[in-house]
Amino acid sequence: MPRPIEALVHVSALAHNLGRARAAAPDARVWAVVKANAYGHGIERAFAGLRGADGFALLDLAEAERLRALDWRGPILLLEGCFEPRDLELCSRLQLWHVVHCEEQIGWLAAHKTQQPHRVFLKMNSGMNRLGFMPAAFRSAWVRLNALPQVDEISLMTHFSDADGPRGVDHQLSAFAAATHDLPGERSLSNSAATLRHGLNNDWVRAGIMAYGSAPDFPSHDIHHWGLQPAMTLRSRLIATQQLQPGDTVGYGSSYTAQQAQRIGIVACGYADGYPRHAGSDTPVLVDGVRTGTVGRVSMDMLAVDLTPVPQAGVGSKVTLWGHGPAVDGAPSLLAIDDVAHAAGTIGYELMCAVAPRVPIRSAE
Ligand SMILES: *Cc1c(COP(=O)(O)O)cnc(C)c1O
Repeated sequence: MPRPIEALVHVSALAHNLGRARAAAPDARVWAVVKANAYGHGIERAFAGLRGADGFALLDLAEAERLRALDWRGPILLLEGCFEPRDLELCSRLQLWHVVHCEEQIGWLAAHKTQQPHRVFLKMNSGMNRLGFMPAAFRSAWVRLNALPQVDEISLMTHFSDADGPRGVDHQLSAFAAATHDLPGERSLSNSAATLRHGLNNDWVRAGIMAYGSAPDFPSHDIHHWGLQPAMTLRSRLIATQQLQPGDTVGYGSSYTAQQAQRIGIVACGYADGYPRHAGSDTPVLVDGVRTGTVGRVSMDMLAVDLTPVPQAGVGSKVTLWGHGPAVDGAPSLLAIDDVAHAAGTIGYELMCAVAPRVPIRSAE
C-alpha cells in the first residue's frame, strides 16, 4: 500500500472561484493565471475547472505548449515574455501573446521573421521595480514597438506591489495613468488582490491566487469573506499514536515538551511532501475533521499532532493538512490553506506551489 498522503484538486471550486473573479470585475475579461503548474494544481487538472476563462497567463513556454495540447485555442499570455530570441518562434507557431518588458525584447522582435504579427503587452514598471519600462521611457518603447511590422496590437500592463496591503495601488495607478492616458490599447492591471480589494476597472484582470481558493490579503480577509472555495486538499492519515507523560518531548531537537499526560498522533506527512518545516507547534490541522494542532518539529516524512480534542482517533484516522476534511456530526469540516500558511509564517501561494512530486495528486469534485 502506498503512503496514505494525497492531494485532491477540486475542479468545481476552481470554476466557482473564477466566477468570483468575473463578479468582482464584471466588465473585464479574465486571465486565469496558471503559472507554476497552476500554482501546484497541475495545468491539465486546473484547465478542467478554469476553461471558462477568457485566456490563460503563465510564464513557462513548456506550460504554454501543454495548454495548446489540451486544445485551448484562445489567448495565452507569457507574463515574462521571451527569455531569448528563438522563443519568438514558438510564440509565432502557437500564437502566444507575450509581455515586452525590456529593450532587449524589442530588439529580438525587430529581428524576428514572421508572417503573423504578434499581440504584445507592453509592461510598465510603475513602482514594483521588477519588470517593465519606467514611466518616462514607456512612450518611446511604445512608439518603437508600434513601428514594427512584427507587432500587431499593443496592450498596456503593469503590476502592483501592495494591492493586498495598506499602501494600496494609488501611487502606481497614478504613475501608470499619467504615462499612458493618451495611448490606445487594452489595459491589464489587476492581480487577485487588486481585483477583489480595489475593484479596478481594466480590460483584462489577472486572477491567480483567488482562483485556487486562497485569500490574497489574509489575514485582513479570509476566503469566506471573498466567497472563495479551496481548490486543493492535502490529506493523509495517522500511522501511529504515542502516550506522553509530563516532561516527555516530541521529535527532533525536543522542541516540544508535554506539560501533562497527552496523547499524540503521528501523521504520514513531512517536509519532503511539501509541508512547511517552519511550522512550529500548534499549526492548525484536522484529525477526523476536528481542529487540533501540530506538536514539535516537522520531520522529512512525518509530523505529530495533539489528539487531546479527538480522543477516539487512532491509526488510520483521517488527517487534513489543508482543504476539506470529513464531516463531523453531519457538518462539513474545512481548514483554509491560509490558516496553515499564516501559522507557518508564509502565504498560501507558497504552500500550494510546494506540494512535492512524490505526493499523488488527482482531480475530485
Ligand atoms: C502571478 C501574477 C499574477 C497573479 O497574481 P495573484 O496574486 O496570484 O492573483 C498577476 N500578474 C502577474 C504579472 C503575475 O506574475
